[in-house]
Amino acid sequence: MSNRVFLCCCQKCGLQFEFTGSYEHFNDFLDSENFVCKGGHTEGRPPRSFVKTITMSEPYPVTEWKPTEGLNYVDILDSQLTRIRSMQMDHLGAGLYIDRRTLKKYDYEEDAKGYRHYFEVPKRRVTVEA
Ligand SMILES: [Zn+2]
Repeated sequence: MSNRVFLCCCQKCGLQFEFTGSYEHFNDFLDSENFVCKGGHTEGRPPRSFVKTITMSEPYPVTEWKPTEGLNYVDILDSQLTRIRSMQMDHLGAGLYIDRRTLKKYDYEEDAKGYRHYFEVPKRRVTVEA
């Protein structure tokens, strides 16, 4: 998956920092159990409750794009297809979309020619405790 740059602000100490990773990884980060802030404090709760996303960049283009295994690619820019599937696409910003009907999110990988390959953001992977 393509990386984006997320500019964040810690609302506890006001420090701004960047997170580079896919939208999926960013959400994993926001839900992680604790957070060590470069501002000099450690929090025993998920960053989602106090880290604010200021901006999100568009994903970096992929030089030699090929489909990622396990991803469900859907051409959401094809209005005929979205109509057939009764999708209600809404732009969340920086090329990220959500289907208001199913609440599924769609991110994309951009190839060297600038074509956007949209895919369904995978649901959180469930880890089974041993
Ligand atoms: Zn902080």
